[in-house]
Formats: sequence, structure tokens, C-alpha cells
Amino acid sequence: MPASVGLKNTTDFCSILDSGAEVLGAFLERVRDAFAVHAVLLLGPDDGPPLGVAGSAGLPAGIVGLCRAVSGRNPDDALRVVADLGAAPRWRTHPAVTGTPGCRFLATQTLGPGSGLLALVDREPRRLTGAQRRRLADFAVAAECLARATRANAGLSEALVVQGRALTHSRKLFDRASAAAQIGVWVCDLPDETLTWTDQVYAMFDLPRDASLDRDRIVACYAPESRQALAATRSRAIAERGGFTLDAEIVTFAGRRRWIRITASVECEGDVPVRIFGMKQDITEEKLLADRTRYLAEFDAMTGLANRATFQDRFGALDQAAPGRPPFGALLLVDLDGFKPVNDTLGHAAGDACLVEVARRLRRACRDGDLVARIGGDEFAILLATSAPGIAEEVAARLIATLSRPMTWAGRIFTIGASVGIARIDGRSAADLFIAADMALYAAKAEGRGRFRVAGEARPGGPQPYASAS
Ligand code: GH3
Ligand code: MG
Repeated sequence: MPASVGLKNTTDFCSILDSGAEVLGAFLERVRDAFAVHAVLLLGPDDGPPLGVAGSAGLPAGIVGLCRAVSGRNPDDALRVVADLGAAPRWRTHPAVTGTPGCRFLATQTLGPGSGLLALVDREPRRLTGAQRRRLADFAVAAECLARATRANAGLSEALVVQGRALTHSRKLFDRASAAAQIGVWVCDLPDETLTWTDQVYAMFDLPRDASLDRDRIVACYAPESRQALAATRSRAIAERGGFTLDAEIVTFAGRRRWIRITASVECEGDVPVRIFGMKQDITEEKLLADRTRYLAEFDAMTGLANRATFQDRFGALDQAAPGRPPFGALLLVDLDGFKPVNDTLGHAAGDACLVEVARRLRRACRDGDLVARIGGDEFAILLATSAPGIAEEVAARLIATLSRPMTWAGRIFTIGASVGIARIDGRSAADLFIAADMALYAAKAEGRGRFRVAGEARPGGPQPYASAS
């Protein structure tokens, strides 16, 4: 990925620079062969170790100093040859001449003003012919070019090492930050769809870091809905040369279910998309938390029914519904009869269990499109999806019947009941409908419980068949 690729390139480039030093070494070997001397040295303009040496084994001690001393500082004096150092009064006591092995012949050829020198060193006295002197001058020109290149490379190498260190540091920071944020980077080359991932993305998919990446296998990890969404948004982004963000569900190669947030940008050369790349972030925890928060906001934690807020949202939406086509046909308000004694005699836990069982029975007595909500302690509201005549009454009777059946808790059998108030949804405001249903419920309670009443309709004569057993 970007950081590691950068580092790799730096390393490769350094090795190219290193090979520059090898070229210089080979060149000096060539010079040594050409003159059949014991050693050849290439010295830079400043005091310091040689830029290059050929035949360094057994080089006389102090030879670098002797080379510089013989060459002198005069740039015009390009070539200096001392055929026999042992016979030259000025040099014969120099440690490089008296030592073992001692140097007896030295020829120094300056490379150019302020550019160092090329030196031929031998253990025996010898002479240079005119042709050899010209050849040495030619070699010196070539050596100067190589020395310059080597010096430039050395500077570049140093810069690259510094840059490499900075990159390593940046990579460490990047790795730490991406690990903390659970973010990875991905690149997909087009059109062959070759994938490149950072470590974090491998971890997200539970893949080892050296695993080969086959896009078809990766796409197969996406849950069907996410896979479809990914295919559609990805194709659109490529066609529009844009990008996208998508939350997708995957099942990792270890079988774990995770949510990832994918961001993508399409990169073009000219107008041709060549790459699609971006980030993947593990948002599983965020997603679970959001789902849980949404659940708690919308559902009653104990019974799992819609809560009062959800009921109010859906019921309040009636006021905005298109006239003549409200989404619901009737509102049923249900209040349990004789629920308090369950708490009082069997305890609060029994009361809770009773509410859970009531919710289960209510759900079973209703259809999928109906909204069943717990809107208070033992109060429930049902929005019936249908307005067909007689259905609200039929459902109310069914609810009363099912809730009147005995319940069991910790081996104890008990019975409750329910009263229901019905308001038909007929164009009145949600607030008026609720009041009407509530009054009908109150009437049902007042008339003896275990029955339903329809708002605005005369009380039926005679006893109702759904009287509570309690
Ligand atoms: P009525 O027939 O007149 O409706 O009387 P009731 O015995 O059903 O009691 P009422 O409706 O007046 O009161 C409901 C009781 O429900 C009061 C309250 O202590 C209890 N309650 C409310 N919420 C919960 C709950 O979450 N768990 C339990 N166990 N009891 C609750
Ligand atoms: Mg009650």
C-alpha cells in the first residue's frame, strides 16, 4: 500500500545507488589492469578516505597522504610521476615508502580543478611512457565523471535514507492510527480487478496478511443485499468517475458477521477509469450500538412491542395521510382487567411475565400490517390496517378471548382479562380519535370489563359474550 510501496521503492533505489559504487570499483580495477600496477586510488578533493580503491590488499600505510603530497595543490600540474620514491630525497623517508609493503612508484593525475586525483601505486620503481601518460589522463576524465556521479549518489542516498526513515515513521503512525480507528486502505486496479490491501483490511476479513486476494472470493463474503448494493454503487461510481460510501455486511473467512463502511474514489487516466480505491472501516460495534439505540427508541424493552413514541409517530402521521386513504382503519385501546392483583399476589416478576405473555398473545391475534404497541403499564394500542366493516369488532372480541385464557407463572395459574375501546379512523384528527377510543374503553370498563365498546355507537342491548372470567 502507499506507505509500504514507497518504502520498497526507496530501498530499490538505494540499491541502484549502491551499484554506482560497484561500477566505480570495476572502473578502477580496469585502470589497475591497464597499467599492471599494485593499486589504483581515487581521491576526492578534500582530505578524507579514498572515493575508491582497486587492489587495496596490503596498501602501504599513509599512502593517501603521500598521494596528496606528491600531487601538490597546483591544479595546473595535472600529472606527477615519481619513478622511484626510494631514490627521491624528498620522499624516501615517507612512512608509505619505508613501511612494509613499501611504495616505490607513484603517479598522480589530477581530475580537474578542485576535483581530486587518480593515483597509480606500485611496489617497484617504474616509468610511464607517453602513451601511458595520455591514457592515464583519459582515465582521469572518466574517473572524474564517475566520482561526481558517486558523490551525487551519496548525497541522494543520504537523502533517501532520511526520507526512508520519515516514511517508516509515517507508516508507523499510519498503522497505529488505522488500527485504532479500525480503518484500512484498499486499491482495486481496473479492469483486471487486482486488489491491494493494507493489514487492517486483511484483519477485517479474517485473512492472513500474505493471502492472495481474489475479488470474486472477497465479494462472496458480502451478504446478498450488501453485495447487490455494492455492485450497483460501484458500477455507477465508475461510470460517473465519482465515488461512493456504503455500509455493507460481510461474513468473514472465519465466519464472523461484521459491518464495514466502504468509501471509494475512482481514479482516471485521461477519461479512462484505471483504479478504484478508498478505505474500509470496521463499524460493527457502531452498527450494533446504533441498532440497539434505535431498538430502545422504538420498542418496548420488556415486551418487544412498539413503544409509545413509535405508536405516536405512526398514529400522528394520520393527520398527514391522504384523505380517503389512511394507512389504518381503526384504533383499538386495550387495558388489562385485574392486572394489579397479579403484581400484588404473585409479585412484580409475575406481573412482568404476564405482560410479556400478553404481548405474545396480542401479536398472534393481529396481522402483519397492524401496529401493536405498549403505550403504558398495562395499556396497549392497536392500529388495524383494515377498515373493512366488522373487522375491528372481530379483532377486539378475539383479543378479549385470548387474554382471558389462564396464564401460568412459576407453577401458579392465574387469569386476567381485557377491555377494549374502538375508534374508527374516519377523518377526525389523531387527538380526537384517541380521546374517542379512550372514552369507549372507559365505557367498557364501567360496564363491567371483559368487553369492547365502539366510540360513537349506541351501547348494544343485552350482555356481551366476551365477559372476563375474572
Ligand atoms: P383495571 O382492571 O381497572 O384496569 O385495574 P388493574 O388491576 O388492571 O390495574 P390498573 O390498570 O389500574 O393498573 C395497572 C397496574 O400495572 C399498575 C402498575 O403497578 C402495574 N404496572 C405498570 N407497569 C408495570 C410493569 O412494567 N410491570 C409490572 N409488573 N407491573 C406494572
Ligand atoms: Mg388495567
